[in-house]
Amino acid sequence: MGSREFHPTDTVVNVKGVKIGGGNAPVVMAGPCSIESEEQLMSTANAVKAAGAQVLRGGAFKPRTTPYSFRGLKEEGLKLLKAAGEETGMPVITELMSEKDVELVAEYSDIIQIGTRNAQNFMLLDAVGELTTPVLLKRGFANSYDDWLNAAEYILAGGNRNVILCERGIRTFETYTRNTLDIAAIPVIHRLSHLPVVADPSHGTGRWHLVLPMGVAAIAAGADGLLVEVHPNPDHAMSDGPQSLTFENFATLMNGVQSVAPIGSSNRVPLRAQPIGV
Ligand code: PEP
Ligand code: MN
Repeated sequence: MGSREFHPTDTVVNVKGVKIGGGNAPVVMAGPCSIESEEQLMSTANAVKAAGAQVLRGGAFKPRTTPYSFRGLKEEGLKLLKAAGEETGMPVITELMSEKDVELVAEYSDIIQIGTRNAQNFMLLDAVGELTTPVLLKRGFANSYDDWLNAAEYILAGGNRNVILCERGIRTFETYTRNTLDIAAIPVIHRLSHLPVVADPSHGTGRWHLVLPMGVAAIAAGADGLLVEVHPNPDHAMSDGPQSLTFENFATLMNGVQSVAPIGSSNRVPLRAQPIGV
């Protein structure tokens, strides 16, 4: 159901009037990795909104590599996120980690994020397939395109057609970067599927100074948007500080996004078939 053959025209996911996909202007979703406090979230929400972000992100349930790291404010964080979204007039996105929290997260969030570690948790995918809330499905860090599209199929098959795919980098032998952001995934998925595709250059690189060049590159490759981590003081962030942008650097990224957006849309015009091609 996610394939172009089944549905040739682009799906546009409409989140409270913010349209993602289908050649609409790129939508940038930005905010802290973790919601830490009302002040941290509100200052970030105001800064990203002023720079042109359209969706506010913030993690309340955090999938951490070790159980001893900060794991999020849970429902208290969801409440802060909803309030910050309402105050700044932005829809919000947050991660759902467990089937037991589906109703809770759906009550507070406008988009439900499924993280890379749960990208093939088929029971969780079935559960969000029963909702109408848009779902942003990250690519599993060891998923092929086929694995990823089949994971999306679980959500679509359940009846939820509002699926956004997110390239967030895959595991490779490189250690300088946290993951390898696969920019080719963007035109490949656009060719294979009608679903919108966004990129996450924060987790895709793990380093703040790579977020701008890779974010801009993803937009130039035709991405329908970005998911970006921003923090008032990255050195003191409770998670993912090294890949979080300051407010100032986020504004610079937004300028880059604006300037390459026309290149991104021109890259989405299908080329003529060539004699040798797939
Ligand atoms: C996140 O967005 O903070 C996150 C944990 O992402 P991922 O699932 O891509 O690691
Ligand atoms: Mn993060």
